[in-house]
Amino acid sequence: MPDRNAPSSAPHWGGLLRAFAFAVALAAAAPLAAQEAVPGLDAAGMDRSVRPGDDFYRHANGTWERQTPIPGDRGSVSGFAIAARRAEAQLTALVQGAAAAKAPAGSDLRRIGDFYTAYLDTAAIAARGMAPLRPLLARIEAIGDRRALARYIGETLRADVDVINEGDLFTDNVFGLWVDQDFNRPTWNSAALLQGGLALPDRSYYLDPSPKIAEVRAAYRAHVARMLALAGVPGAAEKADSVLALETRIARVHATREESWDVVKGNVHWARADLAARAPGLDWDAFLAAAELASLDSIVAWHSGAIRGISALVASEPLASWKALLAYHAVEHRADVLPPAVDREAFELFGKTLSGAPERAGRVGRGVEATSAALGFAVGRAYVQRYFSAGARERARAMVAGIIQAFDRRIDALDWMAPATRAEAKAKLRTIRVSVGYPDRWPSYDGLDLRADDAYGNAERLERFEYRRALEKLRRPVDRDEWTVTPQQVNAFNLPAMNALNFPAAILQPPFFDPARPDAMNYAAIGAVIGHEVSHSFDTVGAAFDSQGRLRNWWTPEDSAHFSAATTRLARQYDAYRPLPELAINGNLTLAENIADLAGVTAAYDAWRASLGGREAPVVGGLTGDQQFFLSFAQTWRAKYREPLLRRILLTDGHSPAPFRALTVRNLDAWYDAFGVRPGDALYLAPADRGRIW
Ligand SMILES: [Zn+2]
Repeated sequence: MPDRNAPSSAPHWGGLLRAFAFAVALAAAAPLAAQEAVPGLDAAGMDRSVRPGDDFYRHANGTWERQTPIPGDRGSVSGFAIAARRAEAQLTALVQGAAAAKAPAGSDLRRIGDFYTAYLDTAAIAARGMAPLRPLLARIEAIGDRRALARYIGETLRADVDVINEGDLFTDNVFGLWVDQDFNRPTWNSAALLQGGLALPDRSYYLDPSPKIAEVRAAYRAHVARMLALAGVPGAAEKADSVLALETRIARVHATREESWDVVKGNVHWARADLAARAPGLDWDAFLAAAELASLDSIVAWHSGAIRGISALVASEPLASWKALLAYHAVEHRADVLPPAVDREAFELFGKTLSGAPERAGRVGRGVEATSAALGFAVGRAYVQRYFSAGARERARAMVAGIIQAFDRRIDALDWMAPATRAEAKAKLRTIRVSVGYPDRWPSYDGLDLRADDAYGNAERLERFEYRRALEKLRRPVDRDEWTVTPQQVNAFNLPAMNALNFPAAILQPPFFDPARPDAMNYAAIGAVIGHEVSHSFDTVGAAFDSQGRLRNWWTPEDSAHFSAATTRLARQYDAYRPLPELAINGNLTLAENIADLAGVTAAYDAWRASLGGREAPVVGGLTGDQQFFLSFAQTWRAKYREPLLRRILLTDGHSPAPFRALTVRNLDAWYDAFGVRPGDALYLAPADRGRIW
C-alpha cells in the first residue's frame, strides 16, 4: 500500500491511467528561517504556547498551520509539498526538455515530448471539438441487446485497479482488471475482476443520507446533465436522472472499502465454466471474448458480491439506462483531452465540489503530471538518470537494513508470540525484497504509438497498451523484481504478496531525507516511512501472507487472538478522533495504516537509538535528540485540508488525515519522557492503553 493520503492529489476526472501521486501542493514553503538553529527542523513553524501533552501536532506545527495558505488550485497543503514541489520542478524541466528535443521517432524521449506537446495544444483540442469521442458514443448508441452490452463492457475493461500494492480501488468502467500474483499459486499471476461502474469516488456518495453528501449528489446530477449536453447527447436532463438511479443501484451492491481490503474475502476463484451460474445476467462469453480473456480457466472474483449484483443489473435494468450511463462515463473519462468547456465542467465537480479547490491547476503543471503518469517508467528512467544520486541510494539501503534489524529484535522480544509464529515472522523479514530508487529492469514502451497532435488518441492508445501489458503478465511467471509504482512519486510502497518494498527516488529528498541534518530527523522522517512499509508485511493485510507470498494462516490461534485484540484497541483509539464535528475517523478502515505508522515510528526510533551505539545524541538548538526525533516526525505529517477533501479522505482513504498520524507518538513511552507528558494531559494514555503491536 502507498503510505500517504491519495485523494489529496487524486481528482479522477479525465482519468489517465491513474491519479498521479506527486502533485500534492505547490505550497508556500514552511518558514525556513529556523534552519540555522536546527537544520531540517522548522522551529519557527512550531507553537510553543501549546503544551506537547495537550496537542502535540499543534505544538510542532501550530504557527505553520496559521501562516500557510492552501494554494487555490489544491485541496490541501502538506509536509509532502516541499518534496513534491522539487520533484515537480525537476519533472517540468525534464518533460519540456523532451518536447523541445525532437528526439528520434520511436524513442522514449520522443514519446514523452509528443505526449506532452499534444496535451498542451488546447487550441488543437478545441478545434477538434467532440469529434474524437463521437465513434465511442456511436458504438454505445448502437448497443441493441444484452449481448452487445456485455461486449462493450468487455472491450472497455482496462488494467486500472490494484488492491494491495497501490490501494487503488476505483474504476469508472463497469469492471476493473487487476493482474497480479495469485495468492494460492504465488509464482503465477492471475486476473482479478473488481467492481466499478460509479463516477463518484465511493458508494457512500450515493447512499450516505447526511445533508453534506446529499448536496454533493444534487450538484452531481446537474453536472451529469451538463456533461451529456456538452457532448451533444439528446435528452441530457432525463438521462442524468437515469444515470444517477442506475449508479445508486450499483452502489448498493458495491462492497465497502473495508471489505475490499479483506484479502481472504477477495481471494475467490471462479472457474470459467461456472461464471454464468455464479453471476447470472452478464453474457460472460461475450464479455470475456471482447476483453481478450476467453482463454482463462478461472478468474479471481475479488468483489464476488458486487460482480454478482452488477451482472444481475446488466440483465434487469433498461438498456437505455445503461447506454446513458456508459455515454456519460465516456465523456467524463476523457474530459481533460476534450474541449475546454468539458474540461472545466469536470473540474467544477471533481475539483471544486469534491475537493474544495477554488482554482484549477495550470495546463503546464497538469500536462507534466499527465505525461509522468502516462509514461511513468520512461519519465522515471530519465528522472533518476538526472536527479538521483548513488549516494542517496546507498544511504537509504543502509537505513532500511538497520530498521529491518530493529524489527527483528522486536519480534524476538514479543513475549506472547509462539515459536512457530515467530519463526515464520522472522523468515518473512529475511525474505523481504528491498528496492530503492528505481527498478533494476525498466518496462518498455516499444510499439506504443503516440502523436504530437492527438491528445485524445494518445490517452486511448496508452490505456490499451497498458491493458495488453497486463494481459501479457498472465502468460509468464511472477517477476518479483517488478515495480508497480514509478520512481518520480513522492511516496513509498509495500507490495504485500510479493513481500517487497519499493522506495521511489523522489521521496529520498527533503523533508524526508537530507544528509545535511541530524540523523534523528532522517530516522524520524524517511526512517519512519521505511518502518511503516516494513510493517505492512505484518499488518492486517500483510500478516495474511507467508514468506513465500501464499495466502496462508501461519499464526497460532492464540497469537492471532492477541494480535486482533491489540489491533482492536488501536482501532478504538482512532475512532475517537473527530476531524469534522459530525465525522470521526473510521478506525477499522484505517487500521492497517495506523498499525504501520505505529510500528514504523517505533522501529525507526529503535534503529536510530541503535545507530548511536549507546551515546546520547547531541543537543541542537536546545532540543534533545529525542525531542528532535519526535518533532521532526510530527512536522513530516503536517497538513491542512479543505473541508470537502477532508470529508472524502474520511470516507474513502485507508490513511488517517495526516495531523492524526502525527499523534501516533502518544503510544511510545519515549515520547512521554522526552516532553514530560503526564496524567491529565489531553493526549496522555496510561501505559496499559498505549498501542503496542510490534
Ligand atoms: Zn501504508
